[in-house]
Amino acid sequence: MTPKIVRYLADHQPATPCLVLDLDRVAANFARLRTALPDAQIYYAVKANPAPQILGMLNDLGSRFDAASIEEIMMCLAQGARPGTISFGNTVKKASAIAAAFAQGIDMFAFDSAEELAKIASHAPGCKVYCRIAVGNDGADWPLSRKFGTTVARARDLLIEAHGLGLIAYGLSFHVGSQQTNVAAYQAAIARAAMVFTDLRTQGLDLKMLNLGGGFPVRYRDDVPEIEDFAEAITSAMNAHFGNHVPDMILEPGRFIVGDAGIVASEVVLVCHRDPEDERRWVYLDIGRYGGLAETEGEAIRYDIRTAHRSGPSGPVVIAGPSCDGVDVMYEHAPYAMPMALKAGDIVTIEATGAYVTTYASQAFNGFAPLSEHYI
Ligand SMILES: *Cc1c(COP(=O)(O)O)cnc(C)c1O
Repeated sequence: MTPKIVRYLADHQPATPCLVLDLDRVAANFARLRTALPDAQIYYAVKANPAPQILGMLNDLGSRFDAASIEEIMMCLAQGARPGTISFGNTVKKASAIAAAFAQGIDMFAFDSAEELAKIASHAPGCKVYCRIAVGNDGADWPLSRKFGTTVARARDLLIEAHGLGLIAYGLSFHVGSQQTNVAAYQAAIARAAMVFTDLRTQGLDLKMLNLGGGFPVRYRDDVPEIEDFAEAITSAMNAHFGNHVPDMILEPGRFIVGDAGIVASEVVLVCHRDPEDERRWVYLDIGRYGGLAETEGEAIRYDIRTAHRSGPSGPVVIAGPSCDGVDVMYEHAPYAMPMALKAGDIVTIEATGAYVTTYASQAFNGFAPLSEHYI
């Protein structure tokens, strides 16, 4: 939590649950990534947090945008983004969304199947397309494999087909999985992508761009490699595999840009024992899986949760949300400890929740209002 957030919480004591996000940290994260990889264009992954304050500020800082839907595209345009700086990066799009994006001037589209390519060719004729390949997601706490991406051989055929359809066969993309903590994942993916570039060049098709996706991690409870470590690994792999033909590089960071800029403040609703045989207390918060903490599914993302009790003994807990749904339990297997003094009415802060929280909140499951948001 940044000093600015600490002050804001003390001065305003906002109603919970709420997200408080420090825009200065977003700007700092963006600047840090740009310094680490100065040759890459940064396309902020809008889905991580589409707040207009974030989109507007990043646009002013020179960021571009990776949008997953026509709605996200319209949000970027509303904040002043030029259409040429927006990539329609979802490989699964309605024909009507492709047409609407094309009408807005969007000229870069992702695909990973012949069927999607045909849709783009008829609804966004002449545009730039890039093909997403599947790469290893080992080392990622929130994998994005299986559902997306095609093989290297198929990507090569599809890009030749794209050219035949009158589209600009622009490049390739991959995503190594979100919250990727292994720098080698990017190196393996770059090696794989380079094969397609080389192969197509021998066939007279020169791809211009490699989109390395997102995946850069933030610190939750455990240390993660620094962004500079990722940058170094990426740069050396690009030079090793592309030599004198290094293509334009695109990055699509989401979590890294906004994750550690925000915290969720939440009120403890109940602390109790469930099972006399189990020493663990159950701690119910006023936010849960349906209030925005969707990434606690499978306990994949393990947030750092802090309380105001600084001294005194702690004990093991199960942490659950406030709704009447049995699945609304955040942490039951991951070891969490909280102060023995913790009681209903206390405020806890869930750290590094600037990404993938606000938009995951349900409209009003059980009547609970969606998370409120404070951008400071
Ligand atoms: C979600 C997503 C991203 C952002 O991933 P992070 O792990 O948050 O950096 C980037 N590109 C695509 C295509 C995505 O689906």
